[in-house]
Amino acid sequence: ADTGPQKERVVTEEEWLQKWEMGNIGFHKEQRHPLLQKYLDVLLNGKSGLRIFFPLCGKAVEMKWLADMGHTVVGVEVSEQAVKEFFSDHSLPYCEEPVPEISGAKMFQSTSGNISLYCCSIYDLSSSIVGKFDGVWDRGALVAVNPCDRQRYASLMINLVEKNSSYLLVTVSYDPNKHKGPPFYVPESEIKSLFG
Ligand code: SAH
Repeated sequence: ADTGPQKERVVTEEEWLQKWEMGNIGFHKEQRHPLLQKYLDVLLNGKSGLRIFFPLCGKAVEMKWLADMGHTVVGVEVSEQAVKEFFSDHSLPYCEEPVPEISGAKMFQSTSGNISLYCCSIYDLSSSIVGKFDGVWDRGALVAVNPCDRQRYASLMINLVEKNSSYLLVTVSYDPNKHKGPPFYVPESEIKSLFG
């Protein structure tokens, strides 16, 4: 399954930072994702006060939405600009502090305490640092991960979720011969082998 034309393609962290600097962020949407609205009940399972994880979070507006519902939101994003824009776009006061376990990483937390965004690579995280999650919203995350890192990403995500958690994953279906990505094409068969 891993033999597609995008297999060798790599987007570096530096290139992601540049996208943010140039405002080349067509992936960012001002409106809440319709599929999150549609499958919200699946994510929440009727429970309140959940811990929800946003891998490769950018400045996704759904983080504010879920936090306003009373859930605790944790995100990870390499671009400090993206993290700061999230808080300023929503006029949320925040504080920032170093993450002792990860050299160079910072954690930005809303003053109300319910949104914590780690500014570092997702591969620096572990459950001993961020704990485990009851739900995951994976949109623009697995599909943004370099194809060579998918296995590592999936193993990490499996490690970060509680037993009875829900993982909502959005992928993009298209002909990988026609676009180089990201977003990358991740076939259903590969999702099955990655996540079991
Ligand atoms: N999920 C967001 C953003 C999708 S774009 C949304 O729905 O809008 C992918 C994001 O991942 C970019 O903001 C990029 O800066 C960030 N990113 C790329 N590689 C990363 C990594 N290894 N660790 C953390 N963030 C990363």
